[in-house]
Amino acid sequence: MPIRMPIYLDYNATTPVDPRVLEVMIPAFSRDFGNAASRSHRYGWKAEAIVKDAREALAEALGARPEEILFTSGATESNNLALLGVARANRSRGAHIVTSATEHRSVLDPCRQLSSEGFQVTVLPPDGFGITSASAVAAAITPETILVSVMAANNETGTLNPVREIAELCRERGVLFHTDAVQALGKVPVRVDEMPADLVSLSAHKLYGPKGIGALYLRTKSPRLKIEPLLLGGGHERGIRSGTLNVPAIAGFGSATRIAHRQMEGEAARTRDLRDLLHRRISEGLSGVRLNGHRERRLPGTLNLTFDGVDGETLLMDLRDLAVSSGSACSSAASEPSHVLRAMGLSASEAKASIRFSVGRFTTRAEIEFASSQVVRTVAELREGVFGRSTPAAEPATPRG
Ligand code: PMP
Repeated sequence: MPIRMPIYLDYNATTPVDPRVLEVMIPAFSRDFGNAASRSHRYGWKAEAIVKDAREALAEALGARPEEILFTSGATESNNLALLGVARANRSRGAHIVTSATEHRSVLDPCRQLSSEGFQVTVLPPDGFGITSASAVAAAITPETILVSVMAANNETGTLNPVREIAELCRERGVLFHTDAVQALGKVPVRVDEMPADLVSLSAHKLYGPKGIGALYLRTKSPRLKIEPLLLGGGHERGIRSGTLNVPAIAGFGSATRIAHRQMEGEAARTRDLRDLLHRRISEGLSGVRLNGHRERRLPGTLNLTFDGVDGETLLMDLRDLAVSSGSACSSAASEPSHVLRAMGLSASEAKASIRFSVGRFTTRAEIEFASSQVVRTVAELREGVFGRSTPAAEPATPRG
C-alpha cells in the first residue's frame, strides 16, 4: 500500500472517522433526520431511539447508567460545564477549586474565569513525569474545597494520572471530582464503577468519531450533584444542556465508543508496539533525545521527545513529510512553549525543541519506519548545520488536542 503523505502522526489532535462509524451516521442525516425531542411522530421517535442507543453505548463503556450521560458539543463544552456549572451551583458550600498545571486550556481557562468571579483556585505543579499525585491533591484540599479537576491522560505527553486514587480521596473528603478523560477513552479503561468520579468529560473525535460532539458523565446517585447550565433553552438533556441534539454525530459517537471499547486491548498493544518502534529507531539513530512523560504510565500511542541542540520550529518545518505537533502552543503573535512541558520543569527552549508523535488505528509499520528515518536524518542534518535556519514557509503546526 502506498504511504499517504504527509504521514499522519497526530492522532491526539484528532482522528479520522472510522468507515464503520460513518456507515452508522449517514442514515441519521437524511432518512432518520427527526428531532429527538419531537414526541408526536415517528421521525422523532426514531431519532430518540438512535440517541438512546448511543447513550447506552457510552454508559456501557464507562460502567455508568445511561441517564448519567449528557451530550454536548465537545469536551471543551463539557469541561466548561463541569467547572463553571459545578462551582457556580455549589458556591454556598465553599469557593475553592483544585486543578493541575498540565490540564487542557478548556479546564485552565474556566478556572481563570472562576478566579475572576471570586473563587480561589489552586493549580498543582506536576512531578517531573507530568503526574499529579493523590498526595499533592490531598495536601491542597481545604474545608472550602468544593471541586477537584485532574485529567486522566495528558494530551501532550500521554502521562496517566492516578485518577482512581484521587477520586477515592475526594470522595472521602466530601469534595466533587471531575476528570477530563478525552484522551483516555478507548485507549485505557475509564470506569466510573471502579473510580468514584462525579463528572467525566469525553469527546468523540479522539476515538474515530466525528468532531463537534462530546459528553459529560454526571453521577446521579448520592451525593446529589448540583450543576448550573451554561446554555438555557428548551431544557434538553435533563435541563442541563439545552439545544437540539446532533443526532448523526451522537450516532457516530456511540458507534465509535463501541468499536474502541471492543478493540481496546488489541489496539493498545498494536499502537504501543508502533510507538515503541518509533522511539527505538529514533534513539538508535540519534543521541540527545529525551522522553517527556512517564515511560510506563502513559497512553499507548503517545511519544513526546525533546531533541537536544535543535531549534524546535526549524525542526518542525523541516519535517514537512510528517504531520506531528510541537510541544509549543502558538498564539496569534508569538509561539509560546508548551505549558505542560514547562510545568514539568523543561526550559522554554527545551519545550520548543520537543515534538509529540501520536500513533493510532491506521498507522502502519511502514509509516513508522519512514517517519523514524526522516526524524533521524533531519535532526542529524540540523545539528551539523547543513540546513542552517530555514525560512518558515508557513506557521508551524499548533499543538492541539
Ligand atoms: N481535553 C483534552 C485533554 C483534549 O485533548 C481536548 C482536545 N483538544 C479537549 C479537552 C477538547 O476537546 P474538543 O476538541 O472536543 O473540544
